[in-house]
Amino acid sequence: MSELHAPSMAMLQTVADDPVTYANNWKTAHQRPVVGSFPMNFPVELVHAAGALPVIIQESRTPITEGRSLLAEFYCGYTRSVADQAAIGELDVFDAFAAADHCVQLLGAVDAIRYTRPEKPVHFAQFTSAMDDAWTKPRVDGRIAELRSQIETVTGTAVETDTLSASIKAFNRNRQLLRHFYELRRSGRARITASEMQLLVKSSMVMDIDQHTAALQTILAELPVHDEAPDDVVRLHISGHFCHAPRPEILDVIEESGAIVVDDDLYTGFRYISTDVPESQDPLAALSSWYLERNVKAPCPTRVTSEVDWDTYLLDSIAASGASGVLVLMAKFCEPHMLYYPELRKALESHGIPSLLIETEHEGIPVEKLRTQMETFVERIRRHVTTVAV
Ligand code: SF4
Repeated sequence: MSELHAPSMAMLQTVADDPVTYANNWKTAHQRPVVGSFPMNFPVELVHAAGALPVIIQESRTPITEGRSLLAEFYCGYTRSVADQAAIGELDVFDAFAAADHCVQLLGAVDAIRYTRPEKPVHFAQFTSAMDDAWTKPRVDGRIAELRSQIETVTGTAVETDTLSASIKAFNRNRQLLRHFYELRRSGRARITASEMQLLVKSSMVMDIDQHTAALQTILAELPVHDEAPDDVVRLHISGHFCHAPRPEILDVIEESGAIVVDDDLYTGFRYISTDVPESQDPLAALSSWYLERNVKAPCPTRVTSEVDWDTYLLDSIAASGASGVLVLMAKFCEPHMLYYPELRKALESHGIPSLLIETEHEGIPVEKLRTQMETFVERIRRHVTTVAV
C-alpha cells in the first residue's frame, strides 16, 4: 500500500493522466496562453516568465490512427503519438509550440504539427550538441535569445529580468524537492515506488509549478521516513527511456518481481530534474549555463562533452545507490539510445553488474512475458551478487 499522501497523489494522477484537460482548465481560469514544448532540454522558465503555462507534451495512451500517415512505423512511439495528437486536434489547446532539441525523429513530429496545424506558431531553437567547443556557449546564448523573442511574440508579454529570475527560483525549488524524494528513495528509508516517482516528475512537467510545489510539500510532510532500509529486496537502477514516461504497469511489474527501484536516469525521472539554473547570474545567461551543465549532471547520448560519458555516470550512480543490477528500458526505434546502448552494456559487463534490456512500444508490451523476464533477472541477481563493488 502506498505511503504517499493519497489526496495529493490522486490530484497529481488526474493531471498527469490528462494534461490537455488541465491545460484547458488553466487557460480558462487565467485567460493566458499555453505553450507546448518537447523533451529533452527546454528552458520552461522562459514561458513561465511570460505569464503562460509551459507544458511538456506527453505521449498519449490512445492508439495511433491519423498519425500513421504522417510518420513511418519506424519512428519512436513518442513522436508518432505527438503527430497523431496533432492530427486529431488533441493539441489544439496549445497556442504555440517550441522545441530546442534536434533528434531527427523529434523533428519529424514537429514538422507533423506544422503540417497539420499550419495556423499554430512553431519555433525551433536548435541547441548545439557539441557541448564544449569554443563556439557552443555563444550559439546557445543566441538560441535562448531567439526563444525569448518568440515567446514574447506569441504570449504578447515581455520577459522581464526580475520575472525570469523569480521563475528560475520557482523551478529550482521544485527540482530540489523532487531530488529530495530521490535521496530518500535511494537511502531506502522512504517507500516510494517507481510508478509513484514517475508520477511526481511527470506531473511537474505539465502543471503550474507553484501548485505542484505545494503538493510536493504536503506529500513530503506526510511521508513516513523509516529507520532502516528493507534488506531482503534486490535494489535496481532503471536506465534510459527518453522523451516519454514508461507505462506505470511496466514499473509495477518490475517491483512485483522482488526488486525495488532505488535510482534511475529516465527522462521522466532524474534526468529531467537533475540540474538547477544558476541563481547568481544574469537569468538569460543562467539558462544557457543550465543547458551546458545538464550534460555533466546527467549525460545524454544526443550530446557530446569530451570529459563526460553516460557509462561512467551510470557506474558512479550505481556505486552511490548500492544498486545490484540495471534494468535498461529502451523505447523502440529510439536511435540515440540504440546507438549508445552497446557502450553501456560493455561497461556494465566489465564491472560484473547484471543488466537486462527491455524494449517498450507505444502499443504496449506483454506484461506476463515481462513478469517472467523480471523474475528470472531478479533470481539471477540474487545468485550472482548482493552488493556490487564498482
Ligand atoms: S530521443 Fe528517442 S524517444 Fe526521444 S524523440 Fe528521439 S527517438 Fe524518440
